[in-house]
Amino acid sequence: MTFITRFAPSPTGPLHLGHAYSALLAHDMARACGGCFLLRIEDIDRTRSKPEWERQIYDDLTWLGLRWDAPPMRQSDRLGAYDAALESLWVRGLVYPCTCTRRDIAEAASAPQEGGDPVSGPDGVVYPGTCRNRPRPTKRPTDTALRLDMAAALNSLESEQNPPLCFTETGSGPQGETGEILITPDDLLHLVGDVVLARRDMGTSYHLSVVVDDAAQNISHVIRGADLFKATQIHVVLQRLLGLASPEYHHHRLIRDEAGKRLAKRDDARALAKYRAEGCTPDDIRAMVGMEPTPASSLQ
Ligand code: GLU
Repeated sequence: MTFITRFAPSPTGPLHLGHAYSALLAHDMARACGGCFLLRIEDIDRTRSKPEWERQIYDDLTWLGLRWDAPPMRQSDRLGAYDAALESLWVRGLVYPCTCTRRDIAEAASAPQEGGDPVSGPDGVVYPGTCRNRPRPTKRPTDTALRLDMAAALNSLESEQNPPLCFTETGSGPQGETGEILITPDDLLHLVGDVVLARRDMGTSYHLSVVVDDAAQNISHVIRGADLFKATQIHVVLQRLLGLASPEYHHHRLIRDEAGKRLAKRDDARALAKYRAEGCTPDDIRAMVGMEPTPASSLQ
């Protein structure tokens, strides 16, 4: 199998040390085995994505010594592909419109009849199902959010006699999970729930787009931070429903600040651009994130 991996930043702020680690690791792994390294700009959030951040991404990655093997894919050019994927789920009754606000969800999830504290999943509070049993229109609405009906999705996979849901982890999850990771229907129903596949303002979501695009770019190995380990089970369900092959996953450790907090976009203090301005070299950045200097295979 050809090794094809990608780095998929969102142009919503400066790249920081955490992004540098992810991109360098993916690039090194691809170069070490003669594979491909691709770039994808995840700009579905049109209000937060800015062309200047996209330019800065190309500039920072080039400075780090990274080269991508095809023109970058941009998610804002791919809305038709997401729409087609949603439609195929809609006609099978696997998604439904949801008009709940965050507040409605928080209130419903903590209502006394729900019992216990609201459960938190990969996307925050697990959706209590308020809109699930409302009558569904024949035509897929485009002006509301759409959620995956997880129970219906699992039934559909079961009736097609799909093999057990699982994925291969070659790195490790936050709890050291590695190897063949089994995904249980019980976890999907109770710890993940009916996740949003199309946001009202975007017509898609991170989960749907990432699955459709990893398949379109023929990604064989997804290399990304361990914070996305839990989201992978959603991605595997979507791959099965859409008839797409699952890549292997390699979740890596997260780069943290001195207080142990994961770096975020707002951590401008650790922006690559700032280190560059201070005269750091790409190998200095590698050292800061605990990597060896640039391997010969990554020099070109
Ligand atoms: N755009 C996502 C992020 O920046 C990419 C996640 C992924 O690699 O799947 O976190």
